[in-house]
Amino acid sequence: MPPIFLHNTLGNKKEEFIPIKQGEVSMYNCGPTVYDFAHIGNFRTFILSDILRRVFEYNGYKVDGVMNITDVDDKTIKRSVVEGISLKSLTHKYEELFFSDLEALNIIKPQKTPKATESIADMISLIEKMLENGTAYKSSDGVYFDIAKSPGYGTLAHLNLENSTKERVANDEYDKTNPRDFSLWKFYTKDDENVCYEAPFGKGRPGWHIECSAMSMKNLAETIDIHTGGIDLIFPHHTNEIAQSEAVTGKTFVHYWIHGGFITIDGKKMSKSLGNIFTLQTLKGKKIDPIAYRYFVLGTHYRSMLNFTWEAVGGAQVAWKKIKSFVSKTYDQQESRLVSKSIIYKLSEYKEKFSKHINNDLDTSQSLAVVFEILKDSKLPDHYKQELILDFDKVLGLKLDEKEEEKIIPENIKILIKERDTARNGKNFAKSDEIRKEIELQGFEVKDGPEGTVITPR
Ligand SMILES: [Zn+2]
Repeated sequence: MPPIFLHNTLGNKKEEFIPIKQGEVSMYNCGPTVYDFAHIGNFRTFILSDILRRVFEYNGYKVDGVMNITDVDDKTIKRSVVEGISLKSLTHKYEELFFSDLEALNIIKPQKTPKATESIADMISLIEKMLENGTAYKSSDGVYFDIAKSPGYGTLAHLNLENSTKERVANDEYDKTNPRDFSLWKFYTKDDENVCYEAPFGKGRPGWHIECSAMSMKNLAETIDIHTGGIDLIFPHHTNEIAQSEAVTGKTFVHYWIHGGFITIDGKKMSKSLGNIFTLQTLKGKKIDPIAYRYFVLGTHYRSMLNFTWEAVGGAQVAWKKIKSFVSKTYDQQESRLVSKSIIYKLSEYKEKFSKHINNDLDTSQSLAVVFEILKDSKLPDHYKQELILDFDKVLGLKLDEKEEEKIIPENIKILIKERDTARNGKNFAKSDEIRKEIELQGFEVKDGPEGTVITPR
């Protein structure tokens, strides 16, 4: 297998990837908190995990991937209380929407997508072990991890612990400037409504950080190859995952930490107050195909900051369609059957070049440059260009062979269409209208013609 180099946040340098088991990769991707639509910044990180998986598979590795679904934490509980619905129905709705967005972005669903609420017993057992070995302690409002008992605490985030105070923090999210003992388990308060679990140390609910440690160890192993996430997760989330996991097992938790950069919108941070939190629905509303967004993301190295502008993503859509229209055509294979030595040489040279870039810390922008170089090569017959680019698309995932008319209607939309037809047949027009809005919200247009309902991507 050719060498793959990845930037490891742990040592803050590019390293050759050496797997725990030869030919295999265990990878944990910090997944979404399902309390709202995921935004395009979140999706940049999920595209990174997807490219990483595809690169390993392209190189012949077997990948065992996990992406968790955070369906119980401060944010989800708060939102379900505000909306006046149960935690389960809130998280179920956004989980479905999340997976349909992944599909639209051609992100291959990881092999396992466990939900936090299904692993509570595993979290409790980790906390019990920490209470036993003295790295955790009980206080009036919950169980906390004692960061003073963790010798390497903060290595990942390059923390300076001189300023740390002996304080604790119940909130899952806090600032790097003030590292403190963090919450493993929060005792029940009335703000949690009916969300609570029995535990030997007192009823309550888990903190966010312990959820990922438990799901990673349960679904993969105590030590895994790779853990991914956005750079905003380095502290406190990933720092705390390392501390508590290693406090339990005494083993290294993860060998390679891969973190993706931020997205800014017109040079500004995405924020509610600026009204610039864009989702895939926002993009579809402006006639930007989710795959054009994927192409836009691949144009910049994953560790760099990426500035989103409508002009730039529009340009990406034009470039993507240009490659796609070339690749999706049918070419006469007959004329190119005469294979000269120079063609064979060219083919292997291009393949090598592409692999070298993609294996060099996932340099997708250089890999895309190879695609354009191939398109411009006047000495290579079209049929061979097509074959090469389609091979590269196994990594890029740009659906280059998909013809416009073949655009697939996702499964969940098909179900909604059926439900709407039933409502219409039963003359329940209020319900059918409601479903139509839901379908439109997910980026599809609904038209009722003489031959029935016609659905088209917007
Ligand atoms: Zn996580």
